[in-house]
Amino acid sequence: MENKNIIGNIHSYESFGTVDGPGIRFVLFLQGCPLRCKFCHNPDTWNLTGGKIKESAKETFEKIKKYKGYFGKKGGVTVTGGEPLLQTEFVLELFKLCKEEGIHTAIDTSGYIFNDKVKEVLEYTDLVLLDIKAIDEKVYKELTRVELKNTLEFAKYLKEIGKKVWIRHVVVPNITDNDELLDKLAQYVSTLDNVERVEILPYHRLGEFKYKELGMKYALEGVEELSKERTENAKSIFARYNLKVN
Ligand code: SF4
Repeated sequence: MENKNIIGNIHSYESFGTVDGPGIRFVLFLQGCPLRCKFCHNPDTWNLTGGKIKESAKETFEKIKKYKGYFGKKGGVTVTGGEPLLQTEFVLELFKLCKEEGIHTAIDTSGYIFNDKVKEVLEYTDLVLLDIKAIDEKVYKELTRVELKNTLEFAKYLKEIGKKVWIRHVVVPNITDNDELLDKLAQYVSTLDNVERVEILPYHRLGEFKYKELGMKYALEGVEELSKERTENAKSIFARYNLKVN
């Protein structure tokens, strides 16, 4: 394998992740994100050059390989962030190495970055965790500061190539905790026959302290965490469309 020596800008690693894809996973948080989600709990990943770890895909791969024995049949590696597809060359090299070693690969993405290089990365990707922040264009823009259309084009392409997808959706009180919007999203997701499951993520405030540390204003100050009842309500709306919901 050719080592192109592409340097990744990495925020951090987690060696035994259990919430970002199936099984036990090595989770890689890449630096940089073009979105500015109001609920983001990783604002320290936004700046593309701010990563504490800078290393080649090969170096990262050598670290991942050490955990291969823990992955079992289901586990593997997940790249998240930030928006991992901002560093497509790095992810491409890393995933090529992982696939040569038979390691399962997953990407957690907003779907905002979609180009030919991303399509190439998808050839080495087993699972896409696609975060759809909102299904309404206006709400999406208000919540993330960017347009929804790229994500929908990305989702359409994933359907066309039959790529396995888990949809993730954060439900935020007063913004996306709205039965009409949830129903519209569930209906849309039900048209994607490549979606294996939907993960409803209740809004929480665990990242709020980071904004204070970084001297930044927290956009959702005063917004309560999503209640159990409203979380169940969101799940039940998706279940109506025969979607497997977690
Ligand atoms: S896409 Fe993810 S990392 Fe980027 S702002 Fe949104 S929640 Fe944060």
